[in-house]
Amino acid sequence: MKIDLAILNRQFELYQAEYEQAALKVLRAGWYILGREVAAFEKEFADYIGGKFCIGVNSGLDALTLSVRALGIGAGDEVIVPANTYIATVLAITANGATPIFIEPDEFYNLEADKIESAVTSKTKAIMVVHLYGQAACMDKICAVAEKYNLKLIEDCAQSHGAKFKGKMTGTFGNAGCFSFYPTKNLGAFGDGGAVVTNDENLAVTLKMLRNYGSEIKYHNKLEGVNSRLDEMQAALLRVKLSHLDALNAERKKIADRFLSGIKNPRLILPTTCASSEHVYHQFVIRTEKRDEFKRYLEDNGIKTVIHYPIPPHLAECYKRLGYQRGDFQITEKYSDEVLSLPMFNGMTDEEINFVIEVCNGYDA
Ligand SMILES: *Cc1c(COP(=O)(O)O)cnc(C)c1O
Repeated sequence: MKIDLAILNRQFELYQAEYEQAALKVLRAGWYILGREVAAFEKEFADYIGGKFCIGVNSGLDALTLSVRALGIGAGDEVIVPANTYIATVLAITANGATPIFIEPDEFYNLEADKIESAVTSKTKAIMVVHLYGQAACMDKICAVAEKYNLKLIEDCAQSHGAKFKGKMTGTFGNAGCFSFYPTKNLGAFGDGGAVVTNDENLAVTLKMLRNYGSEIKYHNKLEGVNSRLDEMQAALLRVKLSHLDALNAERKKIADRFLSGIKNPRLILPTTCASSEHVYHQFVIRTEKRDEFKRYLEDNGIKTVIHYPIPPHLAECYKRLGYQRGDFQITEKYSDEVLSLPMFNGMTDEEINFVIEVCNGYDA
């Protein structure tokens, strides 16, 4: 048997007729940018998340970058961010000229809330929190620090569509909830896409201008904006998927539960969930000491895996100028040496799930 990390045509086939109908409707409408589908999706997604406004943009990175900018964060400012994250989170900060201040992760791979306060300086303007792999970070402690020091709070929800902390949806805790609709995400489009959810009307108005050349009225450019629009086709397809998102997340959770009860191998550390968090399992990430060897073993058995992520942002070549070295964030570095994401996708068959479990249990190097 051969299994990829994610076989994306399966999630298409689950609701194929609905996607085809939605796509045809857009093709025939003759209006392809910022139209009815985007407006309808923005309303439906804001309602689903529980925010007042939603602004569709071109990607998760743009959702983050434009939010940082719209909140007035730039050169000379510091933003607290998890060391253990995808580089996009950090790029959104540095693209605006601000400085990332890295915080080590907890056992759930999310930013360790107790370590934030000691990193706050007179230059700190915001906390950028990430709900990594689909599990909500410890939001009550994080919100308390943001409030105490009057910091903006931006949530990177690129991996956490539908995940909750103490019953409250991720993306509603701070000033801006930033989502990616990259095809592999829990709410994935069939191309690039992203969105910001916010309760702040001024922020919403600014973001709407920024995404469309800085104009509210065509050819009246108030801000030096960019072109970062969600298109009608992606919005129409996302509307279909959003209507099934709870079912799709429930299916991921079922697969994760099968892995959690079926994989019994002392060499593999399985993911755990904090009592207050709901996990939507964007990825099912295990850890093992001889990770590269285990990865090869799985590959030899037909199972493809991916490392999320092999190089932490502070050690990325592009951030040499920040002056960090190996050893500066040891928990993050240990995770990047040991983590591995097992195949996990909508439409995964029982046979495939059982095969992954069997092969994992057979590893005894
Ligand atoms: C995917 C992802 C992003 C970026 O989203 P794009 O749509 O690919 O730009 C940002 N942050 C995290 C944590 C992600 O997983």
